[in-house]
Parts: sequence; structure tokens; C-alpha cells
Amino acid sequence: MPAFIDTHAHYFDRKYAALTEGGDPSTREDASREAALVGADTLLSSPDFQSVVCGVINVGTNLENSRVAVEQAGKYPFMAAAVGIHPEDAQGLPDGAPLDPDTTLAALEAWVSDPVRRKADKIVAIGETGLDYYWQPVNKELQKVFFEGQMEIARRTGLPVIIHDREAHGDCFETVLKYPDVRGVFHCYSGSAEMAKELSRRGWYIAFGGTSTFPTAHRVREAVAAVPLSRLLLETDCPYMAPVPFRGRLNHSGLIPHIAEVIAPLHGVTVEDLAEVVNANAETLFGLSAVLR
Ligand SMILES: [Zn+2]
Repeated sequence: MPAFIDTHAHYFDRKYAALTEGGDPSTREDASREAALVGADTLLSSPDFQSVVCGVINVGTNLENSRVAVEQAGKYPFMAAAVGIHPEDAQGLPDGAPLDPDTTLAALEAWVSDPVRRKADKIVAIGETGLDYYWQPVNKELQKVFFEGQMEIARRTGLPVIIHDREAHGDCFETVLKYPDVRGVFHCYSGSAEMAKELSRRGWYIAFGGTSTFPTAHRVREAVAAVPLSRLLLETDCPYMAPVPFRGRLNHSGLIPHIAEVIAPLHGVTVEDLAEVVNANAETLFGLSAVLR
């Protein structure tokens, strides 16, 4: 089995506390960050994991956990980090206060603008950012301020962006059209095949994960088939979105072959050939070799 790059993971998530403390990961939201990091470490240090995974992008969703993502990346030779503000975090969902866009975006930009510090922190992208109209109530205006602010930072720094688009396909597409010189990836893609084609034609990458393995996800697999191999990326979005046959369980990058086994035949290639292409795509977009050791 070839080794894969997981382009989207959250190894600081509190659900990983279940790996040390036991119990059902879905009830581990209240676990301490320390317990979660110890749990994730047992996974990330294991030889079985490292035989399947040759790269991971650990993606932050706010400034605080972006700092943790960077600390973890510093510990593992195969791990890079992305730092940014997720639309839900921007809005303070489900029960926090909304973030202040001016101070938050200024702090993010100050952090990523120095190329030396960026390299030392192994930061390869801005994200995740984007729009999420699923959770109610939605403050579209505030989400857009954060999204466009991060697109501006990406434009000024030349970093790629990792876009979260949930039930906001039209507005996400419109926003990226406003920034023709910014590139990146639509992660855990859930839009139409037609939009995926349009995005890839414009140089965007499209990442697929566990949802592509769900029996009823015919639209997702149509989108997989519509994206040229040269624009395709694989991801887990772990600890969420575990692929079949692990659906509902704690997800991790080592399960990525289960995703590859569904995606490879949709493009008429072997899993080995798919691994080679998507790993090369990840390198092209994120320049991982400059930060991985
Ligand atoms: Zn994510």
C-alpha cells in the first residue's frame, strides 16, 4: 500500500482524548486539550500510522487552536500546519461570542506575513476559512468579512487558502472569483460537479474525504469524476467524517486508503497511481517539501 498525504486534519481536537482516557469520542468534547494531545500522539507516533501516511496538514479553526496545530507540526517531521478562522468560530458558534474581525485578522496577518517565522512554524496555508450556512442563526455578513479578510491575507502573502463551503456554494464561488490571483482548495467538497469543473478550470484544487464513501453520496462521487486528476486532493477532516466502514467512529489519516479505494476507480486508475498523483498535487499547491523534514 502506498503512503498518502492527508491535506486536512485536526489533531488538536478534544475527541482524541478518547484514545488515552477511553470512552465514546462523541462525548469527549469536554476533555482537556492536554489529554487530547496525548491521545493524538499515540496515533501519530505509531509505526502502523506512519507506514500509511507520509504527510499531514494540521488545520486550525481559530487563533488559539492554530497555535496548537503549529506546536504539533513542530513535533512530527511529516506534519505541516494551516492557520485561520473557520466561519463557525468567527461567529462564536455554537455558544461563544463572535470574534472581532479587525483585531483577529490583524493578528493572523502579523503572524503569517514574515516568511522566516512562517517557515519555522511550518505554515503552508491560510485556513480553514469560508462560509457555513448550515448552523443557525447564520450571520452571513460577519462570515463574509472573515472570509474576504483571509482571502486578502492570502493574496498579500501568496499562501494558498483552505476553503470550507457548507451550503454556501454560490457565495463561496462568487468570493473566489473576486480574487483571481488566489489559489487553494475547496475541502470536503459538497458542491455540484459543474461547479467543481469550473473551479478546477480556474486552477483551484478540490479535496474529497470520507463523504465520498457514503452509500448515498452519489452527487459527491459525480463531483469526484468531474475533477481532473491534476486538481484532485485527498483528506480525512479527522476526527470527523470517518470513511465507510468506520463511519461514526474516530477518524484519522491512517484511514485514507479507504477513501482512495473508492476514488481511484472513478478515474480508472489504481490506488498506487492515485496516491502518486494526489501527493504530487499536494506538493504543487502547498510546497510541503520546503517545511517537512
Ligand atoms: Zn476541517
